Amino acid sequence: MNVFVTGGAGYIGSVCVEELINAGHQVTVLDNLSEGHRSAVDERVKFIEANLGDRALVLKALKEAKAEAVIHFAAHALVGESMTDPGKYFRNNVARGLELLDASVEAGIRKFVFSSTCATYGPPDRVPMTEDLPQRPINPYGESKLMFEKMLKWYQEIHGLEFVAFRYFNAAGASEKFGEHHRIETHLIPNVLKVALGQAPQCEIYGTDYETPDGTCIRDYIHIVDLSQAHILALKPGKKGFFNLGNGEGYSVREVIKMCEKVSGKSIPAIEKPRRAGDPPKLVASAERAFNELGWKPKFPKLEDIVTTAWHWHSEHPQGYRD
Ligand code: UDP
Repeated sequence: MNVFVTGGAGYIGSVCVEELINAGHQVTVLDNLSEGHRSAVDERVKFIEANLGDRALVLKALKEAKAEAVIHFAAHALVGESMTDPGKYFRNNVARGLELLDASVEAGIRKFVFSSTCATYGPPDRVPMTEDLPQRPINPYGESKLMFEKMLKWYQEIHGLEFVAFRYFNAAGASEKFGEHHRIETHLIPNVLKVALGQAPQCEIYGTDYETPDGTCIRDYIHIVDLSQAHILALKPGKKGFFNLGNGEGYSVREVIKMCEKVSGKSIPAIEKPRRAGDPPKLVASAERAFNELGWKPKFPKLEDIVTTAWHWHSEHPQGYRD
């Protein structure tokens, strides 16, 4: 299939592009490299450096690529940043995304796959979380993704644009070639592994007074290759709707740090800091719908395997991508 991927130079996009090509798809990547890296884009794809919001350019690119499906990763995705700069999130994730959506309709795209997030739920009434839980985001990042989900529902109903929206829990780990390198790193696992690599004296724990067994936030970590495989399954005709992607197992910040110590064989000192604004205490997925309707089956559900692949990648790329 001819697949057009936005954000294919980013962390999740880069691995998904690699998996798409390995599965025999033809891929075009559009990315403005504001977050992504040119060298994270698989050499076997056509690369276009451009903005999502440039509708005429995107439409032309979709037509030239003879795109049948769009996978839309390009977004800002930091909870903390969204709490200080909400406009950045609504402008990029909603307004610019809408231009892509309109271009996709005009180009006659058959399937639109969207990176949504568990942050659209806000603090859940119960875990594991199923897709029918109320969505009450507590940060602009989650709100911006929820707004796009709503647009997709209407575009499917009115324009017949079939969509799959994946609500990711915490993407982590790496493939052999591609891993996590944000210019400003705020994510837990890469920050903790930086200490193991000797690049930082200690890691930080944001909040130790949550109502969780050890007082720190609980998240459901999912391997980036498993996440990518779900996107490939979503391309099949007739697959549509909202799907959680997670492993159904929650780990606290302290447990993640312990696992990083085990995997790296290094001691990792941590200091306790106040809560980070916008963080729900506990997010754990039920991915039953993805299992049943997409036939999705994670290959790396164990936190140890996830952290091990991240550790390998960071050890081999201590400075991340060079560009
Ligand atoms: N976190 C932390 N120290 C860090 C980075 C993150 O304690 O250096 C916490 C964060 O507050 C959250 C969890 O780890 O509770 C996961 O955060 P991350 O930014 O990795 O992902 P998010 O859940 O925000 O998408």
